Amino acid sequence: MEKEPGASKTNYLRISVTDRCNLRCRYCTYWRDWRKLPSVEILRYEELLRLAAIAAEMGISKVRITGGEPLVRRGLVEFLGKLHHVPGINKVCLTTNGVLLRELAPALYDTGLRHLNISLDTLRRERYRQITGRDNLAEVLAGLERAASLGFHPLKINCVVLKGINDEEVLDLAMLAQDHPYQVRFIELMPTVSQEWWQRHFQPLSEVRRRLTVLGPLMPSTREATAGPARNFRVPGFRGELGFISPMSGHHCRTCNRLRLTADGKLRPCLLAASELDLKGPMRLGLGDDLLGYLFQEAVELKAGKARFSLVHSHQPGRSMVSIGG
Ligand code: SF4
Repeated sequence: MEKEPGASKTNYLRISVTDRCNLRCRYCTYWRDWRKLPSVEILRYEELLRLAAIAAEMGISKVRITGGEPLVRRGLVEFLGKLHHVPGINKVCLTTNGVLLRELAPALYDTGLRHLNISLDTLRRERYRQITGRDNLAEVLAGLERAASLGFHPLKINCVVLKGINDEEVLDLAMLAQDHPYQVRFIELMPTVSQEWWQRHFQPLSEVRRRLTVLGPLMPSTREATAGPARNFRVPGFRGELGFISPMSGHHCRTCNRLRLTADGKLRPCLLAASELDLKGPMRLGLGDDLLGYLFQEAVELKAGKARFSLVHSHQPGRSMVSIGG
């Protein structure tokens, strides 16, 4: 697929397989107004596999499965097994909130899945309930332990930093990477719910990095071709790494290599912009693979050049984060 000089090749597709979730994170969606998609609007697994194959033809080699919470969707394990055999897709990853991970980890591992991201914003039970609206911290920690014992690697922990809520815990969370080969990644809050809530709780990662200097010098790690937006660092004496994802204070548009497919079949060139292309409608009307491939090409062109910056500065995803999959 064409790309502008210096920009990254678009080789990574994030697929949201559902807009359902068993948590209610405060920074995710304005839950009072949220309505789940009618099931018929959600792409069927065979449709997802077909689009993954078309995307691979177009140069996509890495796929990340997201939600909502992907583990709540029935049949996910079988789907993952098939996804690992789509020609051209040589890396399959999954992002989960970990609540159902302890019980599903062995079956997930048997599909060939190794790359796992687990959302964990706090190690404190009451604060977990405050952020997610649910009392599931114990399950998530048990799921993390189970996944580590099975050999999932790299095991990444995603922590959204919320000023005045969990920012005083960044050192405790970072320490998870001392004795374990985890990548603990700190993520800047995005204004997906309300500008007012964002202004109250946004913490630039420069402040987080300042607080982590007590751990010692942060030494940059090497990056792979299909790497996401994280900037990773090694710390002396740590088995794992620390990562920083700063979409607000240091956006990484030029190195952005991904497209997003929503659970209802819309292809998005950018997380923070409203523009999206409908794949489900034309596909269900019988459009052939070559023309569907053309829509992938169009999404990449939408991402390219001048459009990129105007896309980002809008900061209005135009739909709830739970239906984009982050
Ligand atoms: S989709 Fe993710 S961020 Fe949103 S409520 Fe579920 S776990 Fe939380």
